[in-house]
Amino acid sequence: MDMSIYRHDFPMLKGKTMQGQPLVYLDNGATTFKPQPVINAVVDYLSSYTANAHRGDYDLSAVVDERYETARADIAKFIHAKRKEEVVFTSGTTDSLNLVAKGFAKTYLQAGDEVLISVAEHASNTLPWFDLAQEIGCTVAYIDLDEHGCITMENVKKAVNEHTKIISLAHVTNVLGHVLPVREICDYAHERNIIVCIDGAQSVPHMPVDVQKMDCDFLAFSGHKMCGPTGIGVLYGRYELLKQTKPTRSGGGNNARYNACGSVSLKNPPEKFEAGTPNIEGAIGLGAAVNYLSQIGMDNIMAHEIELRRYAIEKLSQIDKVQIYNPDANLGPIAFNIKGVFSQDAASLFNKYGVAVRAGQHCAKILDEYLHVTNTVRASLYFYNTKEDIDKLAEVCKKGDDFLDAFFE
Ligand code: PMP
Repeated sequence: MDMSIYRHDFPMLKGKTMQGQPLVYLDNGATTFKPQPVINAVVDYLSSYTANAHRGDYDLSAVVDERYETARADIAKFIHAKRKEEVVFTSGTTDSLNLVAKGFAKTYLQAGDEVLISVAEHASNTLPWFDLAQEIGCTVAYIDLDEHGCITMENVKKAVNEHTKIISLAHVTNVLGHVLPVREICDYAHERNIIVCIDGAQSVPHMPVDVQKMDCDFLAFSGHKMCGPTGIGVLYGRYELLKQTKPTRSGGGNNARYNACGSVSLKNPPEKFEAGTPNIEGAIGLGAAVNYLSQIGMDNIMAHEIELRRYAIEKLSQIDKVQIYNPDANLGPIAFNIKGVFSQDAASLFNKYGVAVRAGQHCAKILDEYLHVTNTVRASLYFYNTKEDIDKLAEVCKKGDDFLDAFFE
C-alpha cells in the first residue's frame, strides 16, 4: 500500500529544517507528528465548543461530555476493550504505569513479593517499581534477554518463581524493538495467578493491539506517540482490577459523596481515577487520532514499517562504519552507532543534513549492561516515512571517516 498519500495530512512534513532543508524525521519513538484531522478536532474544541466536562447542566457542556466519552469509546474499540469503562485517561504511559504500581500494586503486593521486569524497560516501567520496592519491601527482579535482545518464553519460565506476583514488560521496547509474546506470557502467568502489565508505548501506535486476544491485565500507552496530542494517555485495565485499584489523585469529579468526618465514597472506574478537570482537548484529539489510524488500518501501518525497517537494515548493513545493535528485531527502532563516533556527535551531524534522530540512552539506562555500549543512535520510523528518508539516513552514515570533519566544516 502506498503510504506516501498520507504525508499530505501532516503540516510538519511540509516544513523545512532550520537550515532550510526538507526534514527527514526519524524520531517517532519520541513523539509523532499530528495529522490535520487531529489538529482540527483539537482546534474545534478550543474554538467552537469549549466548556468543562462532567460539570455543567447547559447544552455546551453536554456536547463536551458527549465528545469526551465518544473519544473514550473510540479508544476502547481501537484496543478491543470489552467496555469503555476500562479506558482510563491519564497524562501518558509514565502516568499510567505509575498508577498501576502505586494505585494497584501497592495494596496488591506484600513485602517479599516479586515484580519481574527486564533491563530493556523504559525508566517509566522501572522506576515506579523501584519506588514501590522501597516503600513496601517487594523486590524487583529481571527476566534475561536472549542473544538478540528478546524475551523468550523459556527465560520467562526461568525467572518466574513462587514469589512472582506481577510481570511488567514493554510490548515493543524503545531501544531494541522486538515484539513480546504477550499472549503466551499471559497464559503462563495467569495459571500462576500472576498479573501482567504491558507497556504499549511503542506497540499501540505501530501494530494492531487487541487486549482481549492478548489477555493482559493492564496496558499503558501515550497519545503523542500515535498522532495524538501530548499530555494525554491511557491506562487500560481489566474492570475488576480497576475496581481494586486506588486512585493516586483525589479531588473533584472522582467521588460520589463525602462528609466532614472524612468518609469518602468514590465513583466507579474510570471516573475515580480522573479527579480534577481532565485534558479534554487531549482526549478528543486522541479519539480523532485512533479514528485516523483505524481508517489507514493498523495492519497496513505495521506492514509498511516492517518493510521500511527491512530496507533500512539492508542499506545500513552495507556501510562498514555502521554497527547495528538490533538488526533482527521485527518492529521498532533501529539502534546503531557510527564506529568510533560518539552517538551525540553523530546525531548532531545527522541534524546538519536535516535528519532528526535521537542519541543517548533513550531512558533505558540499565540496558547498557546488556548492549555493552552506553549510548546509541536511534532511528525510529512511522508510516509516513519513506524509502527516500532511509536513503538520506544511509547517505549521511556513509560520510564515514569524514564524520568529524564534516561536523566542523
Ligand atoms: N515506555 C516506552 C517503551 C517508551 O518508549 C516511552 C517514551 N519514550 C515511555 C514508556 C514513556 O512515555 P511518556 O513519556 O509518553 O509517558
